[in-house]
Amino acid sequence: MDEAGVHAKRNLKIVTPDVPIIGICEACNAQFQSFDVNEGKRVVKAQFDSHECKPLAASQTADGNFQSAY
Ligand SMILES: [Zn+2]
Repeated sequence: MDEAGVHAKRNLKIVTPDVPIIGICEACNAQFQSFDVNEGKRVVKAQFDSHECKPLAASQTADGNFQSAY
């Protein structure tokens, strides 16, 4: 249902099935968690949906260029 694909492609990975529910953004490794047993996944998903991806590789790009966006 979330395949609009309008924004940058990113995936939420739920790494713990029990509380605390922990989800990780596969695009930027941001972590989200909730201790809510019933709404945990929904809360984590909401956090995920509203976070801003920060590209990890900005300072260590493959082409070895350090002076990108300062
Ligand atoms: Zn992200």
